[in-house]
Amino acid sequence: MKDSLNIKTTKAGQSRLAETDFRDLPFGKVFTDHMFVADFEDGEWKNFEILPYGPISMSPAISALHYGQAIFEGMKAYTQPDGSVSVFRADKNFARLNKSAVRMAMATIPEDVFMQGIAALINIDKAWVPSEENYSLYLRPVMFATDPVLGVRPSSSYKFVILANPSAPYYSNPLRVKIETHYTRSDNGGVGAAKTAGNYSRAMLPTVEAQAQGFDQLIWTDAKENKYVEESGAANLMFIIDGKIVTPEVRETILDGVTRDTIILLAKSMGITVEERRVAISEVLEAIENGTLTEAFAVGTAATVTQISEISYEGKNHVLADPATRTVSPAIAKKLNDIRYGVTADEFGWNW
Ligand code: PMP
Repeated sequence: MKDSLNIKTTKAGQSRLAETDFRDLPFGKVFTDHMFVADFEDGEWKNFEILPYGPISMSPAISALHYGQAIFEGMKAYTQPDGSVSVFRADKNFARLNKSAVRMAMATIPEDVFMQGIAALINIDKAWVPSEENYSLYLRPVMFATDPVLGVRPSSSYKFVILANPSAPYYSNPLRVKIETHYTRSDNGGVGAAKTAGNYSRAMLPTVEAQAQGFDQLIWTDAKENKYVEESGAANLMFIIDGKIVTPEVRETILDGVTRDTIILLAKSMGITVEERRVAISEVLEAIENGTLTEAFAVGTAATVTQISEISYEGKNHVLADPATRTVSPAIAKKLNDIRYGVTADEFGWNW
């Protein structure tokens, strides 16, 4: 990482902090006073700036809007017991952003721009990092193509922006999910492993339809055979079968979740066996029926762990072991949160 990026800072005239109600923070709606921006032009990253959060003027012809060269990340910063602020595993999000950039034929971003952009934004908006229990600051880096040209080809210019939202504790009732057998989220040779805009837009109609049928969320299956489970909504999927964690292996159709990786490492350190492999729908349903499946949960930055209480497949609903009886995933989630908030030692060196 380079010593120091030359970041031009324009401070917001009036902070919105005083008028912000921290008891009412719907996800992603309340932004801190500032944002970090940078431009990729003529083959290099430049114009590093901290600006007041607000609109950016752009041509309606920018290719991100038309052809979807747009990628993003999501991670969180947590107030530590000594008052400092720590970002959890930002190096993983940095690496994933560039992996997405390569797949979408976009410019990659140097580590110093990513990391120092985050540091500069947190420093200037430090008063926005909540210190209440289970609160955090959600960080949203986004990069998009800015060539104002309608030709279909990779853009030669990009904008990188980092936004931040103070975040309230995320609580979710256990989910009733439907295994989706018609629509797909990603396919072999596609972009499922990239955190790119189109993966989220294509999931919207299927999700809305599942919700209209009374489900909270979908489980996506592989597009080729509709035989294996892959992810749940915008989260990775895990099961406990015969006391072991069983989770779909990361492949080109699945996003390589940071929480997934973290939970696997923590589980192994706790002596729990983890199997990363293809997981057939039939295996899950059989394990529910014969009682060997004791826990099912979705994992991601937003909620850490969200329990799944019911899984529906081809019109038949399968009720899982009562979430209140589950012990393994809550124990791992607690250990993870204790590390994030600096309550226990960061043995893995995850806090930055
Ligand atoms: N899968 C998808 C499709 C996602 O959008 C997310 C959220 N980033 C995840 C999995 C979980 O990833 P992470 O643990 O890095 O938040």
